[in-house]
Amino acid sequence: MPFGPVRGHQRPIKVLERAIRSGRIPHAYLFWGPDGVGKETVARHAAKILLCKDPSARANASPCGQCDGCAKTASGGHPDFHLVAPTEKAISVDDIRALLEALSFEAFERGVKIVIIRDVFKMSREGANALLKTVEEPPEGTHLFLLAHHRSQLIPTLVSRCQPLRFDPLAEEDVLAVLSDNGVEDEKARVLAELSGGSPGVALAQDFEVLVQADAESRDVAGKLQSMGTIDRLGLAESWSKDKEKLPLRLECLERRLSEAAPKSPFALNCLERLQAVRALIDRNANLQLALDALFLMAGKEGWEEFN
Ligand SMILES: [Zn+2]
Repeated sequence: MPFGPVRGHQRPIKVLERAIRSGRIPHAYLFWGPDGVGKETVARHAAKILLCKDPSARANASPCGQCDGCAKTASGGHPDFHLVAPTEKAISVDDIRALLEALSFEAFERGVKIVIIRDVFKMSREGANALLKTVEEPPEGTHLFLLAHHRSQLIPTLVSRCQPLRFDPLAEEDVLAVLSDNGVEDEKARVLAELSGGSPGVALAQDFEVLVQADAESRDVAGKLQSMGTIDRLGLAESWSKDKEKLPLRLECLERRLSEAAPKSPFALNCLERLQAVRALIDRNANLQLALDALFLMAGKEGWEEFN
């Protein structure tokens, strides 16, 4: 039976369904995995089941979809449903204090309260410390769903108090299905699914033209590097480093092109490893210009024509 609008993620959903059916639901889950793969969609559907007024919703691990509890949760307006999300890139201690105050009151309906914290790693350390006790011992009937890219982004004392569930990138056919569910027309959906890296959220958030252009540029770069001289390579590094907004998408597209070619080409594999190393440096705030200079100067001694 499908888990509401969710596609894929059979393994974490199986664990979650078993907990809901048995009535032994952990106080706090940590859903971790790449952006846009569906962690929040799963958490919201679990919230809908737990706040549904139909007595058989939990036993079936499925909400009735007809009661006002279901309707209010779907619209985000249920008084016992709390979504905390970063504002201006951070979750402040005041956001957490406001949440804790809301949790200190009796639930409005059914004695259940659900909390989803999006990008929980963006919470300040003070906020994380304020939340610790509640994660360990929440008020009766409260269930928390913390969402993050990776467990290592969080303080260990918080992680150890949660049940972690890993979410992987989706198969291309599942991405295609999500895009189709969201009304993306077939041909566009096929291109987006191929470029999405298993993340329908990323595909839906991108401007289609921008994504297609970034992919075309990356394919072009992969094809030309072999014949480019040092000056042109440095020029390319300079131009990519100057457009910080487009850079993550350009590198993502280039990595995908290299990944496709790598199984048949040791050279592509070598370039791919260099690219991944450079991306890790950029994530750790390395100097962009230097990182890209190194990438483009080291790559492309031979074999780039294979990526045309
Ligand atoms: Zn219902």
